[in-house]
Amino acid sequence: MRCKICVLMCFSLGLFSGAAGIYAAQEGGQTVALIGARLIDGSGQAPLENSALVIQGETLSAVGPAASVKFPDGTAVIDCHGQTIIPGLITDHSHVGLVDGVSIKPENYNRQNILRQLRQYEAYGVTSVTALGLNGSLFYELRDGQHSGKSPGADLFGAFRGIGAPLGAPPAAVIPVSTDQLYRPETAEEARTAVREILAGHPDLVKIWVDDLLGTSPKMKPEIYTAVIEEAHRAGVRIAAHIYYLQDAKAVLRAGVDIIAHGVRDQPVDQEFIDEMKARSVWYIATINLDECSYIFAEQPAWTKDAFFQNALQPALRAQLSDPAYLEKSSKSPRVPIFKKAVATNQANVKTLYDAGVKVAFGTDSGAIPPRIPGFAEHRELQLMVASGLTPLQAINCATSRAAALLGLSDRGVLAPGKLADFVVLTGNPLDDITNTEKIAAVWHRGKKVAGAVGDFHASGD
Ligand SMILES: [Zn+2]
Repeated sequence: MRCKICVLMCFSLGLFSGAAGIYAAQEGGQTVALIGARLIDGSGQAPLENSALVIQGETLSAVGPAASVKFPDGTAVIDCHGQTIIPGLITDHSHVGLVDGVSIKPENYNRQNILRQLRQYEAYGVTSVTALGLNGSLFYELRDGQHSGKSPGADLFGAFRGIGAPLGAPPAAVIPVSTDQLYRPETAEEARTAVREILAGHPDLVKIWVDDLLGTSPKMKPEIYTAVIEEAHRAGVRIAAHIYYLQDAKAVLRAGVDIIAHGVRDQPVDQEFIDEMKARSVWYIATINLDECSYIFAEQPAWTKDAFFQNALQPALRAQLSDPAYLEKSSKSPRVPIFKKAVATNQANVKTLYDAGVKVAFGTDSGAIPPRIPGFAEHRELQLMVASGLTPLQAINCATSRAAALLGLSDRGVLAPGKLADFVVLTGNPLDDITNTEKIAAVWHRGKKVAGAVGDFHASGD
């Protein structure tokens, strides 16, 4: 629906019509009110029909039923009847500056490429991004810029560098990074030194990799991750662990890790794991998209033709994903059955853990390799969570207020007075069909409309 009242108001204020009028209103510090939408506030509560959201500056000054919320004379009013508003999505596990087009190389960790990625996330309604390791020296400067709200694109959080295993994960052959993006300590003492260097810049989290990459490489030794966890905890910083196997997830839990950064994918989780997760109040991020993106594009489901997917692809990736020879080769990979089993196990486990009351947050591993597509991956993850058995409301709750809670952020994730005005206006109701989160009419970030329909967005070249 067109915003009739907005247009009328903007004319009456002597401003330009439509979006330009809103931009002009915001530049002047004017209050903006969105009236009439169904509001899914991120808290997990049932939606509020016919809502009003009032924005002053970067934050929401009032949220409630349209009939009772008041706003000052001269407010620019946008009619959103028939639309649904959800909070901006928050990913707790993504990466920036690793990929450009179909390339993965250390040179991709540069300002222009990272800001390009953050603008893509934002255009897709992901307003906060956690770069969970493999960050270069530029990370803290970029994070400050995004926190200031003056730089376009999603807000940025992260783990600075990461701590991997010598000759192990993360795989240097798949994700080549420079020495200023990753440590691979050989001893506990080296691990402690690495953590101290990481902590000097005040990261949001510390990241470790504890995995043998399907039996192809050595795992991180327990004395290494124990030293990392002790050293980070001494400074009050939490640790997120890359795991694959239930046994490793249990081992890092007992060593004191705070976040399980990927789903358990080798077998069903058991009561012992559930009890330990709850007793230690540890967060769980499933990243179901991670394994699915290894085979799904070759199967060419109908949505691969949609603009929502196509517009997220940089030209080189679009060319690769429309090359029959490439698709044929990837569909014949002997690993496809392993990835499919991993997805099914991951989905069953996230449902079990959610229902048991474990703290499930949200992440995708988008940006780690080219097929994990910034912005698109987050909507796909919501669909995969719903296919796991979570309700759309639960999945949205994981990707908003729970994802903010994982990061320790109280200023976002819920649309309520005093919170940042980070939200997405949808033309469909995602509670009817979770794919309606893709029907983006507008994205608002820190009180400003920063993007319209995704149909107007095109991932830029590499
Ligand atoms: Zn990752």
